Amino acid sequence: MELRIRNLSKTYANGVVALDRVSLNIPAGMFGLLGPNGAGKSTLMRTLATLQECDAGSVFFGDLDVLDEKDEIRRLLGYLPQDFGVYPKVTAYELLDHFAILKGLSGKGRRREVVDGLLQQTNLFEVRHQRLGGFSGGMRQRFGIAQALLGDPRLIIVDEPTAGLDPQERVRFHNLLSDIGDDRTVLLSTHIVSDVADLCANMAIINKGSVLLCGEPAQLIEAIEGKIWARFVAKQDVPAFQRRHAVISSRLLTGRTLIHVYDESDPGHGFEPARPDLEDVYFATIAGRHSGASPRQDA
Ligand code: ADP
Repeated sequence: MELRIRNLSKTYANGVVALDRVSLNIPAGMFGLLGPNGAGKSTLMRTLATLQECDAGSVFFGDLDVLDEKDEIRRLLGYLPQDFGVYPKVTAYELLDHFAILKGLSGKGRRREVVDGLLQQTNLFEVRHQRLGGFSGGMRQRFGIAQALLGDPRLIIVDEPTAGLDPQERVRFHNLLSDIGDDRTVLLSTHIVSDVADLCANMAIINKGSVLLCGEPAQLIEAIEGKIWARFVAKQDVPAFQRRHAVISSRLLTGRTLIHVYDESDPGHGFEPARPDLEDVYFATIAGRHSGASPRQDA
């Protein structure tokens, strides 16, 4: 089912415009919402998860009005918040069983089946009798997915789930997400480009409350083909290059500084054409160098 967001806006009491007329069509499958810290991702996720009010706009999931028919949406919704806390002294089994009761799974036999199934699906069955306080970050996040999947939700919202995971845990978590994204609408918010590159069929880039770019990752990459140029520079020369060129990223690679610039034509100065990837799309977009449509000015 498709999630349709139209002109969603939110200004906090302190005057921060967290969402500025956000419009998105989110089809079934994995959708990545990519943006830096403070972009407005959590505000959007909490609004969609019916936990927070917006000022204006509309959201429909199929025929259901998300902002109005909250109880109905909650029955279809699985949510993993950014700051998912667990009770450290209870075991994974006990807490998931408790959440299952809250979800209305009252029959003991059926509940056991569901809870065991989810613990197996998230690879936590072997450790189900261990206390959550001893779980690693990755195990905790997988537990978070297990609780989000209770009640077989059609819409799943996961807010920055891989922040703080080590590379191995991240891969494991990606595999889990890609399994659950097959036949549902999964909205994944992240500031980590590889989360989206690895998982998402569709994506949007958001910054300062506005959607800057939206589409399929492969097409977005194709659109900047021939416009990304790279060269190694001495670290102390980076500011000079930044003054002369549209530098979109600078990073260390094997101890040297590699910069990427965005330019419609050959910038000269020893730059070589680079094959663009999603990081280039992201950095060029956030730097205001690239946009799918006309860029919106900040108010
Ligand atoms: P992200 O999840 O992308 O990091 P957030 O939605 O958390 O972004 O925040 C968007 C902006 O709104 C930030 O500038 C943040 O400081 C601000 N903000 C978030 N929550 C509140 C709040 N409860 N009151 C005031 N400002 C807030």
